[in-house]
Amino acid sequence: MKPRILLVNPPIYDFAAYDFWLKPYGLLRVGGRLTRHAELVLFDFMDRLVSDVPDPRSDSYGRGRFPEQRLAKPSSLRDIPRYWRRFGRNRDVFQTVLREQGPFDAVLIQTTLTYWYPGIVEVIENIRAICGSVPIVMGGVYATLCPDHAAGLGADLVIQANRTAALWDWFGIPEPPPAPPFWQGYDRLGCGVITLTKGCPFSCSYCASELLCGSFKTRPLEDCIRDLNQMIALGIQDIAFYDDALLYKPEQALIPFLHYVIDHKIHVRFHTPNALHGRFLSAELAQWMVRGGFKTFYLGYESRSEQWQQVTGDKVRTDEIAGAVEHLRSAGADPHNIVAYQIIGHPDSDIQQIEASMHFAHHLGMRIMLADFSPIPGTPDGDRCNTWIDMSEPLNHNKTAFPIRLFGADTVNRFKDLCRKMNASIG
Ligand code: SF4
Repeated sequence: MKPRILLVNPPIYDFAAYDFWLKPYGLLRVGGRLTRHAELVLFDFMDRLVSDVPDPRSDSYGRGRFPEQRLAKPSSLRDIPRYWRRFGRNRDVFQTVLREQGPFDAVLIQTTLTYWYPGIVEVIENIRAICGSVPIVMGGVYATLCPDHAAGLGADLVIQANRTAALWDWFGIPEPPPAPPFWQGYDRLGCGVITLTKGCPFSCSYCASELLCGSFKTRPLEDCIRDLNQMIALGIQDIAFYDDALLYKPEQALIPFLHYVIDHKIHVRFHTPNALHGRFLSAELAQWMVRGGFKTFYLGYESRSEQWQQVTGDKVRTDEIAGAVEHLRSAGADPHNIVAYQIIGHPDSDIQQIEASMHFAHHLGMRIMLADFSPIPGTPDGDRCNTWIDMSEPLNHNKTAFPIRLFGADTVNRFKDLCRKMNASIG
């Protein structure tokens, strides 16, 4: 008989969270590869389209608010003047699944942001209370970046980055061939996720891409098309790319993929929540993207300061962003959906010229989304933050907390107000 395995995407404990095409993609991909070897049950605390979530409203592209409850702040974040919340489905729904759909032979837990570990603590507490000593495995971003901390949460196995071989060994099975993600674990899906590539050719000083993904590579086109077709068969209309460098070497990945989409008259809406590289967004590529169904364009443009750009990794320059915006507009992209991600609270804020950078992006007609800086352990910029905070406590990596600690709440509020006004003036 096949083992019965529970896959869990934990709830989020944070000051803020929003369903910006958020799916536990790593867990679903592992699940997809296990389907031949195991009977799988998925419990995604962040699934909004289930009957136990009241009012699961989404915008026209599938984004929406998570259910939330206000809670007392943890002691290490008491100085942050924001409300602390738990986002996601209620704990008792999970407890019912553990009681009624068990017993399970193993539980796999997805981990993401390091400072979201309280959600994992909650999940493990419930599993241990109801399922006793069932083996628990966790993998993902937090497990990779904070392995020692993760080891203290009570899982039986903590798997880092791409070391999935440890998982297959642990299950005692040969490495399963690539397979589509386990989307069939959901009753209903508003959006899906895909990647065409892995990794990034840059090494920005604030980013963990290299630690998590290694060097840049493309996925086989036939695997990407298989994943796309599976989502289409499930009726998914909005698909987010989780690539770190979707536009790099487009002749090897994005262009052949869009060729297929256009040739086969596939009509879905593509989105880019992970920042796009303005440097690679040529006039030709913009045409391909718009023709292929891309609807939202989030461009990484953290600063207009050349000095800041150079110091942090030189991923994009100002003239390149201006060119990318121009190419997108000429190709017919909706200007309201061309957005600049701009980092706020970076340790080198003194040379970043954040306000001037916001004005410049606004002048180009871009919407602005301020990306609060989170110090990521193991990155040069994250490790420098030991000067301000205790990096050994992952709650201190919280992206709402760090900019407030660096600038003060009044300054952060002023930047956010300015951002709101600029975006409102675009309409
Ligand atoms: S370009 Fe983007 S994904 Fe690549 S290292 Fe820099 S921030 Fe990370």
